[in-house]
Amino acid sequence: MKVAIIGIGTVGSAVATAVKNTGLVHEIVLFDRDAVRARAAAEDLGHAASFGFDVNISPANNYRAIRGSDIVIIAAGANQKPGETRTDLLQHNADVIRDIVPRVMANVDPKRVVLILVTNPLDVMVMLAQKLSGLPPARVIGTGTMLDTARLRTILARGLSVSPQSIHSYVLGEHGDSSVVDWSSITVGGLTIDDFCRQLKIPLTAAIRNSIEEHVRNAAYEIIRGRGATWDGIGAAVADLLKCIINDEHRILTVSIAAGTGAHVLAMSLPRIVGANGVIATLNPKMSAAESAALKKSGKIIQKNFSHLG
Ligand code: NAD
Repeated sequence: MKVAIIGIGTVGSAVATAVKNTGLVHEIVLFDRDAVRARAAAEDLGHAASFGFDVNISPANNYRAIRGSDIVIIAAGANQKPGETRTDLLQHNADVIRDIVPRVMANVDPKRVVLILVTNPLDVMVMLAQKLSGLPPARVIGTGTMLDTARLRTILARGLSVSPQSIHSYVLGEHGDSSVVDWSSITVGGLTIDDFCRQLKIPLTAAIRNSIEEHVRNAAYEIIRGRGATWDGIGAAVADLLKCIINDEHRILTVSIAAGTGAHVLAMSLPRIVGANGVIATLNPKMSAAESAALKKSGKIIQKNFSHLG
């Protein structure tokens, strides 16, 4: 299994480490337009690899080096600076995706490659990459709200004093400020979250729900304020998605793919079954009227941002 990572900054480096640590990949190509950075990252990660899995890690600043890749992960582009939203990155990162995707496509097998998008604003970049690549939408996958969903599970697990493994919960819509917590579909040990909280006498008021939603939405801002960027969470999310694809696991993940046609095309996160060929099916989650309205609004924001690209 050969994986190429495009953009070896803070996120690309964390993704490379997490991918290496899956033990599922025999070759990782680290591509960056900054050749010195790619070489240094490959050197450092190569030293780390000598302690564990036998994986060939090489730097590249020529796209020919990615030939034969089964999966290409795009993590290039500007990140948020303190106070910036993901949408502030729109025009700049659209240019980055326009630069990268045609070059990637000229060097991979379009019949089988899977593209994984990480660059923000994520959902719009998925739409753009799918359009530029001409690949089936099922194989142009954004990590979407996988990270937001992980943040929600972590917060709930702490508040409910149960393992995150016992919680099924989803954040849907935009990977951004309009993301939606789908309270209606949360289950804890097979019970609805309301039943669980009633049985264990844990308060779950509207104010508590609001503060959990705020916490999920603001997590990236807080991390960026504290350490300049986010990387560990997204590294783990990409590795988890990659594992699901390589092992054909058919797990349900909140990833973002383009759906619909013409002016109605939209990429946003919904619970989707993921396997070796990418997204296999999309589920219509159980939602209240308010949650459905919030999801619709989130979709409109993504479409509006996409339309600004011209
Ligand atoms: P960074 O500035 O540390 O690294 C970006 C890298 O991209 C640099 O090494 C740069 O040389 C490279 N690059 C830029 N343009 C390129 C091009 N045209 N071709 C090849 N390489 C190019 O930024 P970062 O912190 O690593 O963040 C990268 C992206 O990931 C940002 O858009 C950020 O917002 C996003 N991100 C997404 C999530 C998510 O959940 N989807 C989480 C965190 C960060």
